[in-house]
Amino acid sequence: MPRISDQDINAVRAKADIVDVISRYLQVQRKGKSYVALCPFHDDHSPSMSISPDRQIYKCFVCGAGGNVFTFVQNYEKVSFTEAVAQVANIVGYPLSLENDLPSKPEDPHKKAMYKVMEEMIRYTIYALNTNEAVLEKQYLEDRGLNDQIRAKFEIGYNPPNDALYHFLKAKGYKESDMVDCNVVRTGPRGINDVFSGRITFPIHDQHGNPIGFSARSIDPNNPSKYINTTDTELFRKSDIVYNYHRAKSQARKEGCVYVTEGVTDVIAFAKAGIDNCVCTLGTSCTDHQIQLLKSLAPKVVFCYDGDDAGQKATWRAAKMALGKNCRVTVIDNQSGKDPDEIVRNQGADGLKAMIRKELTWMEFVLMFLQKHTNMDNYSERREFVRRAEAEISLLEDELDRQHFTDELSRISGFKLNYQPKATRQEHTTVLPSAKVPDGFAEAEDIILAMMLASPEAARRYSDRLGYLTDKTKHTASMMIIDAYRTKGRAEPSVLIDETDNEDIKQLFVRLATHWACSIPYEEKILDGAIRKVLIQAKTTQADAFRQALQGPLSSENREIILNQYQECLMDLRRYIDEDNKQD
Ligand SMILES: [Zn+2]
Repeated sequence: MPRISDQDINAVRAKADIVDVISRYLQVQRKGKSYVALCPFHDDHSPSMSISPDRQIYKCFVCGAGGNVFTFVQNYEKVSFTEAVAQVANIVGYPLSLENDLPSKPEDPHKKAMYKVMEEMIRYTIYALNTNEAVLEKQYLEDRGLNDQIRAKFEIGYNPPNDALYHFLKAKGYKESDMVDCNVVRTGPRGINDVFSGRITFPIHDQHGNPIGFSARSIDPNNPSKYINTTDTELFRKSDIVYNYHRAKSQARKEGCVYVTEGVTDVIAFAKAGIDNCVCTLGTSCTDHQIQLLKSLAPKVVFCYDGDDAGQKATWRAAKMALGKNCRVTVIDNQSGKDPDEIVRNQGADGLKAMIRKELTWMEFVLMFLQKHTNMDNYSERREFVRRAEAEISLLEDELDRQHFTDELSRISGFKLNYQPKATRQEHTTVLPSAKVPDGFAEAEDIILAMMLASPEAARRYSDRLGYLTDKTKHTASMMIIDAYRTKGRAEPSVLIDETDNEDIKQLFVRLATHWACSIPYEEKILDGAIRKVLIQAKTTQADAFRQALQGPLSSENREIILNQYQECLMDLRRYIDEDNKQD
């Protein structure tokens, strides 16, 4: 992604309204002068995120996440700063100069060449599906309800036999090595062959929408492998892929939930039923990386694996991983033994819609799943069942839930049970806010900075009377504020955030923007009081240092000098303390 000029960044920021942009991702509600929303950066159940249209800042009071409009998009979409600026520019309709246009393609020339091969192959296979060679394949797709529209949406195509793709790409001047690296052709004993020869092709993209691989189906009943996928390449790693991510993104974020299925055809079945926030993991094994991607799509993950035993076992494993990463998890109660694709084919879109209405909470699924795998007539198996279910119940956040499911478990098992106190899920990764109690002095430095942000007069008085802060981060922030007034005549936290790469300073500006001292009219008395507190702290530290020095070995001359400084320091300190007491 090329650099975006500071001028453009400032223009985009000025044009964007943070409430407007965030409300494209989250449901926001007005609350007094500001807005609130469920925080997407932690497992939030009551709106903890506050968005200030005045300050153009958001802040979560539980997990501490905060920043300006770019920070939000950056963290929500998991993209770079530059990509976030481009994204916001897109939302507000600000034209960035052409070479800076969306979306980001990697600079790596080899990868670029590979994407070109993949794109060319997609175009070619779509064309080939509409030729006479693919009459049977096209009919097969039509029979399964994959009409023109769906085929176009998912870029479904056909790779004709006799290495037609290889010859085509070669004629177009693509390098053999790039084709091989993409795993669309491979070197065999008799030269180069198409990998997906005679198969219907379903392109697979990464989360940015770059084409990286294929899933391909043969309709030949004699072919032992119905489906094959691209083998791992530089672009394609099966275990990292969430299929349909780039298409599901906007709907998933709007609805706050994403459906996860087993295969490409299931995702397409959901799309046929008009449900676009559906992805799949290309099989039932789920990796940490995939869970992370799911979480970045939506806080709630709805597992919709096949109804067979393998599918249910996979649900158990994947859902536990997702819970460990603080996703909200529910499971579709699919007792049919059929996959979503079959359901849509047999019962139409309404069949699928009816099924996904049968949404089980995680705990309901746990009880059902464990029960199914337990011989309830066998005492020790029943005991094991209770033990495992109890462990899951103890992880539930809500006390009422823990009570309810304990009763339920008693009823099912016949065991008399007392409900469990809350336990902590081991893989929990929530970042808890640090419980540091601010002492008066740290608070004084915050007050000074907040007032400086609110008023240039405060900044001037700070320069005259104090000119330093003892905390290094805060001192740097103070210099940035003074500099902003000098160069721009204004100091806005939402702008200052983008002028540093230091996370601590960014977070400090977020905190200051929402500090009470930033939203009251400038009051000299308050500022002076805070400055005095800093002076008292500084003089106390200084006095301590002198005292320590005096206890060590010193020449009589030096001792005299330090003793003088020490006494002066104590006098200053006393004066500040007296003034401070008078004010209080
Ligand atoms: Zn939060």
